[in-house]
Amino acid sequence: MHEIVIAERIVKEAKKFGDINEVSIVLGELCNITKDELQGAIQTIVNWKIDILVEESKIECSCDYSGKANIIDKGHGYCIFNCPNCHKKPSVIKGGDIRIIGVK
Ligand SMILES: [Zn+2]
Repeated sequence: MHEIVIAERIVKEAKKFGDINEVSIVLGELCNITKDELQGAIQTIVNWKIDILVEESKIECSCDYSGKANIIDKGHGYCIFNCPNCHKKPSVIKGGDIRIIGVK
């Protein structure tokens, strides 16, 4: 039920902006939660309008590769990815986090 924990954190964060009824979130594609899971989890806590934008990943690797990560498998609570060039574990530059980009 890790998505509930993530949802609670987002709701708590969004409430700092005051009395809101709409939230826009960026969800990195390397996060171990899907758009539907996140949306569903937030909806169990609040009845806000939820707008989730999935952000494409960007990684950098020791082999000099820079670009989109190779997602091997993604499911409930996990996301496994590597460098598409050398298959090592790269550094995540973008697409590994969840953040609020707007509230109304
Ligand atoms: Zn590499």
